[in-house]
Amino acid sequence: MLSEQVTGTVNSLHNLELVKQIEATIGIDYAASRQQQIQHPLLDRYDIKLQVKRDDLLHSIVSGNKWRKLKFNLVNALANGHDHIISMGGAWSNHLHALAYVGHRLNIKTTALVRGDEEHADSPTLQDLRDWGMQLRFVNRSDYRHLRNHRQHDAPPADKLNGYWIPEGGASKLALHGIAEINQEIDTNIDTLFVACGTGTTLAGLITAGCHYQVTGIAVLRAESFMRADISQLLGVTRPDANWSINHDYHCGGFARQNETLLAFIEQFEKDTEIPVEAVYTGKLFYAIFNLVETGKIQPGSRIMALHSGGLQGKRSAG
Ligand SMILES: *Cc1c(COP(=O)(O)O)cnc(C)c1O
Repeated sequence: MLSEQVTGTVNSLHNLELVKQIEATIGIDYAASRQQQIQHPLLDRYDIKLQVKRDDLLHSIVSGNKWRKLKFNLVNALANGHDHIISMGGAWSNHLHALAYVGHRLNIKTTALVRGDEEHADSPTLQDLRDWGMQLRFVNRSDYRHLRNHRQHDAPPADKLNGYWIPEGGASKLALHGIAEINQEIDTNIDTLFVACGTGTTLAGLITAGCHYQVTGIAVLRAESFMRADISQLLGVTRPDANWSINHDYHCGGFARQNETLLAFIEQFEKDTEIPVEAVYTGKLFYAIFNLVETGKIQPGSRIMALHSGGLQGKRSAG
């Protein structure tokens, strides 16, 4: 545990001492998440100013938006005396990777329910989870689907495993508070902020932040039939979508699916900008932005920003 003084008596979400101590122990560096202006001939041609909020640089291991989403879940768990956190994910999960590392640094027990079976699921991600002391339990596809229904911290399987449950991808209401802090760090005038959407929690957090700009989510999976409803459920209300939207045109066939065009774009983008991206989230995000610019769907003259949400650990190849 951190220390008794920290874990025992706190019950406020915004216990600054606890937050600071957690962040210092893990080594989160908010100043590293700078806003970087991108130079590119295509952007010049359309007179578009693109900045990237480098949340991938918040920490060398804990991915950008996965830290943001974990933050107040951790505070809440510790403040309520929990010393065991349980969550779920696939063999390449950025969320499990962040959670396992954080658990390791804070000396909190962690358990992951991993989709697939042990013999066939292996990855550098799972190896890291084991190295950081996370307990892995493999679950079949149908059980995994059922687990997705549990969104509350004391819901199954927390009750059985005696811990604090965080839903897949860190998609909980508490996650919204951590994401909303991104808005406070954006200190330039922009028209639109673009973010990659998996569960939609990052987008939902920005919706709660009262941003003075449009927020556009780029869905990285086929989510037309459920993402909007999931976001409403997280928000607890149906917010008018006056200043936010989801674009479903750039999932490239589904979650973690890729095609030649996307891969070629990523290679060129990394060369041109020296910003690393991966094919599951941020590659699709920048591919979408550049395509929207090129097709005139982002108005020439616009000032836009992309949230680089991290996830680069998933880029390592297996074996
Ligand atoms: C998980 C993840 C996302 C998706 O975030 P949601 O809040 O689930 O929509 C985006 N980018 C990266 C790099 C991620 O790891």
